[in-house]
Amino acid sequence: MDTNLEHSDWQEAIRKKALEIGFSACGFASVQDVPDAIFDHWQDWVATGKHASMGYMEQHAAIRRNPQGLLPNARTVVSVALNYYPAQSMPAENPRFARYAYGADYHDVMRRMLGNLAQFIQSLSPCECRCCCDTAPIFERYWAVQAGIGFRGRNSQLIIPQQGSYFFLGEVLTTLDLPTSQPIAQQCGECRKCIDACPVRAISPDATIDARRCISCQTIENREEIPTEVKQRLGRRVYGCDTCQEVCPHNRNAKPTAIEALAPLPQLHTLTYERLRTLTPTDFSCIFAGSAVKRAKYNGLMRNVEALDASLFEQQKT
Ligand code: SF4
Ligand code: SF4
Repeated sequence: MDTNLEHSDWQEAIRKKALEIGFSACGFASVQDVPDAIFDHWQDWVATGKHASMGYMEQHAAIRRNPQGLLPNARTVVSVALNYYPAQSMPAENPRFARYAYGADYHDVMRRMLGNLAQFIQSLSPCECRCCCDTAPIFERYWAVQAGIGFRGRNSQLIIPQQGSYFFLGEVLTTLDLPTSQPIAQQCGECRKCIDACPVRAISPDATIDARRCISCQTIENREEIPTEVKQRLGRRVYGCDTCQEVCPHNRNAKPTAIEALAPLPQLHTLTYERLRTLTPTDFSCIFAGSAVKRAKYNGLMRNVEALDASLFEQQKT
């Protein structure tokens, strides 16, 4: 590696390295307090119970306000996005899993890649780094917008222009002071497709998701019974929901990921309704060992299977 790089070249060198590692986008935001509008919106979301049973979403207000609570003296958020869009969707007749869960657990994949990037940043100049991927109480999408990676759509997803929203987000917080990127303005225009397509009407026009209704939250995070009105709208969805991404025009040109670890796990891709219905705890451990689906735990997944309307899968038996 070139240790003689000038400070002014660091940003480009980090971006180049991020792409070389396999990330699809990389941007830079200066660490400072999150604006009141963003912070208040989160507080209101929690106060009105829209975070459903995700109690962890109520915690760590100080860190959410400023990520220096995670890394004192952090100066820059290096925000990255990793494409997980699969080359192939699951057979339409099978119970459906959200696409992000097709391959290996993204936490493991991202952790490795972020670690490589942090190592590179530290090779440029002595500094401290802290990697986060859906594991720390920071507003990841806000920082991705600030870092110029994309904009937050009405479906609340981070959308990268021309690439779409099938991306995992991650951050390297660093004490290194780096030039920042230009935030990207929202590009939803008059579109309301995600709001109209959401089977449970969980999306408000201000990009607020009511997790008490959202199928994704109810089939993954909820540990209790699935509310009846959500159950009635599951369709074939057994784990997560991609509907508000599937209808988004920004995903028309989504390209399959080049990250091998995120390729669909064959044992998950071929799971039929009948097979899921007879799954034992041991089967669950074998099939989902390295998969993000294990988050739902055996009981959670089986609860979801039981909530599906069996008649939708009748043809599979014949
Ligand atoms: S994930 Fe599904 S249920 Fe949740 S907001 Fe999007 S479309 Fe609605
Ligand atoms: S479907 Fe339309 S409104 Fe929803 S996020 Fe995409 S562009 Fe925005």
